[in-house]
Amino acid sequence: APAANDSPAVFIPSADTPLRLNFNENSLGMSPRAKQALAAVLPGQSCRYPDDAREALVATIARLNGLSDKQVILGNGSSELIHTAVLNAALTPNAQLVVADPTFNNAEVHAKAMGLKTVKIGLTRDHVLDIAGMRAAADAHPGPSTIYLCNPNNPTATITPAAVIDKWIASAPDRVTFIVDEAYHEYVTDPRYQSAIKWVKQGRKNVIVLRTCSKVFGLAGVRVGYAFAHPDTIAQYDAHISIDNINLAGAATARASLEDAAWIRHSLASTAQGRAIAVDAFKRLHLDYMPSQANFIMHRIKGSTTAYQAEMKKRHVLVGRLFDHTDGWNRLTIGTPEEMRAFVKVLDGMRRDGLV
Ligand code: PLP
Repeated sequence: APAANDSPAVFIPSADTPLRLNFNENSLGMSPRAKQALAAVLPGQSCRYPDDAREALVATIARLNGLSDKQVILGNGSSELIHTAVLNAALTPNAQLVVADPTFNNAEVHAKAMGLKTVKIGLTRDHVLDIAGMRAAADAHPGPSTIYLCNPNNPTATITPAAVIDKWIASAPDRVTFIVDEAYHEYVTDPRYQSAIKWVKQGRKNVIVLRTCSKVFGLAGVRVGYAFAHPDTIAQYDAHISIDNINLAGAATARASLEDAAWIRHSLASTAQGRAIAVDAFKRLHLDYMPSQANFIMHRIKGSTTAYQAEMKKRHVLVGRLFDHTDGWNRLTIGTPEEMRAFVKVLDGMRRDGLV
């Protein structure tokens, strides 16, 4: 069973062991079942191509999500699937990419490199995706549009209600393709959120849903992501992706992790506890914050984000960088409860020094 994490363990950040709250990783790491799976498969099978392990992972993902194997594709992290989606768009004449601003910027970075026009639409006052604005950008473009919807959104950790997104998807013409990045799906508790997987289940060809094992499953270094889409769309993506993009270690650990319900509960509970510790501190220090539905949270700071990040680094705490239009806010990854207690100590010190 996972160790209880309500012990008053103290993490002391140092130059050698900084507190890593900058990349939305999950420092719990690999589940015990994933470790067993890795040890069982890697030494004996490392000389073989990973086809069987990959097929088993696809079958597991399909079964857990109520899909057929042909509706699932693996990615070297979900980042690879963002890349593939943008490549697909870039190869289509007269296409454009529509993204939120700020959002996870991989799609925009790839689009720029590929010469694909990108339209950026700011968030609403509530820091959620401006669906009306994104829709207007797609409507105004006569050619194909690929829409990158990050839900929950990174860096804000806010969700955009399904009702708002669904109305658009339901009535969108075929020339509009939706890439719905649900990297933080497992963390969401807000009932207004729903996965876009339902559109894939209804047979829509223009909705691709992205998920990852990098967050709740603690496998960011192992690089496993996956997508749900129509079999024709999957086949189109498959033709772009290098053969065996997921290796044996990734396939084995991801499959074991996805099946480890106790570990998933533990991971989610740890993040919820860590978030509560951070939120208590923000309230006590009167620092505004956005409602977090992920393993990170945006909160107010005093002064510029870049200066705050540097002051935190001096104290061996690595926090998020400056994202577009969010100066004066910091994106903090939610660590384990002990990591968050250590963070709060440092934050209190910063307050005493007049820095936050
Ligand atoms: N999508 C979003 C919204 C993310 O925040 C991240 C990572 O931070 C990724 C995708 C990339 O994840 P992966 O490790 O699966 O490539």
